[in-house]
Amino acid sequence: MDFRPTDDQQLLRRTVREFAETEIRPHVREWDEQQHFPIELVPKMAALGLMGIQFPEQYGGAAMSAIDYCICLEEIARVDPAVALSLAAHNGLCSAHIGLFGTEEQKQRFLAPLARGERVGAWGLTESTSGSDAAGMRTMAVRAGACWVLNGAKTFTTHGRVAGTMVVMAVTNRAAGSKGVSAFIVERGTPGMTPGKKEDKLGMRASDTSEVIFENCRVPADQLLGEEGQGFVNTMQVLDAGRIGIAAMSVGIAQGAYEAALAYAKERKAFGKTISSFQAIQFKLADAATRIEAARLLTYRAAFLKERGGRTTMESSMAKLYASEIAMRVAEDAVQIHGGYGFVKDYPAEKYFRDVKLMTIGEGTSEIQRLVIARRLLAR
Ligand SMILES: Cc1cc2nc3c(=O)[nH]c(=O)nc-3n(C[C@H](O)[C@H](O)[C@H](O)COP(=O)(O)OP(=O)(O)OC[C@H]3O[C@@H](n4cnc5c(N)ncnc54)[C@H](O)[C@@H]3O)c2cc1C
Repeated sequence: MDFRPTDDQQLLRRTVREFAETEIRPHVREWDEQQHFPIELVPKMAALGLMGIQFPEQYGGAAMSAIDYCICLEEIARVDPAVALSLAAHNGLCSAHIGLFGTEEQKQRFLAPLARGERVGAWGLTESTSGSDAAGMRTMAVRAGACWVLNGAKTFTTHGRVAGTMVVMAVTNRAAGSKGVSAFIVERGTPGMTPGKKEDKLGMRASDTSEVIFENCRVPADQLLGEEGQGFVNTMQVLDAGRIGIAAMSVGIAQGAYEAALAYAKERKAFGKTISSFQAIQFKLADAATRIEAARLLTYRAAFLKERGGRTTMESSMAKLYASEIAMRVAEDAVQIHGGYGFVKDYPAEKYFRDVKLMTIGEGTSEIQRLVIARRLLAR
């Protein structure tokens, strides 16, 4: 076992951090206030390989490892969690689903433009009446000659209004339950596919989230992704890896909140002393730093195991559960350390506090992670 980052990993962290500090940090508040999805960042992120982090070079990707992926998401989330959420949805859901289950032709045609950043990707599983219970989805796809005809609507789709390529899960055989769900690649501009309501969110406000509606949307049969009826099973595998990304984002958010609190604690004076001299504040900082390190190790372990191949269902869920819940604690303590200034927008603490909540909800709530972990433990 070697816990030291390699020289390449250290260089990657420095490079992504510098990018986030110069290209993102100056705009964080404005994008959040205006709910502006910074599409102008996409070519710059693509130049760094961030739009195709783990995909092979032959598909336009940067061929980085699963741990590198964590480092990238951590460093972007440390500065702006909303931008990191975009990268996670684009890389870890839409592109990953095509990368794992697409045919060679589909990878060349759809994955490569995504990985090069020529298109932004979206992934639609959740519906208004089915989130945790995703297999209960209502969107249907019916075969009609050389096409599948999709009808239904997806809710809370990250990039629902800006994506060029979307992976959509739909029921192709209602009687078969979760074995009757299939995945489809749908391109922007396909007649019958329209973005619906844009969500006005508590946090992650610079990330585009909306409904996507399908009305007699005809998708060519060669855009069925993976085998018919395997869409839900494949989704679970996509989420195994996706959850490592959410864990990494949580570590990054916690790191950003902690650093903001530490800097503030060293400056702010009360009773003639800096507040960092009070043991109550020191203990919060010590707990935060310790929790972040533990979450980071759990996250890197899941990524390491993913890199070695095989399923990481339990390890991914443990990393996601722990990292998201400690990130909530760290962000809350960061607000507390800032006192009243933690409650106003002049300081970054309130934004981390708003953004972090999604980490315990997206890609499976904490309750669902506990169910996944318990099922694995009981099956041993
Ligand atoms: C900003 C944002 C971005 C998102 N991006 C995407 C995206 O790109 N693509 C996509 O497909 N989805 C996306 N989602 C959806 C997200 O994955 C779901 O919101 C999440 O899975 C929870 O589903 P739900 O909202 O329907 O909650 P519900 O499933 O209705 O859950 C409500 C509550 O009940 C609990 N609960 C449910 N079932 C159980 C159970 N069996 N045991 C114990 N407790 C249970 C839950 O834990 C939760 O506390 C996004 C959501 C948000 C807010």
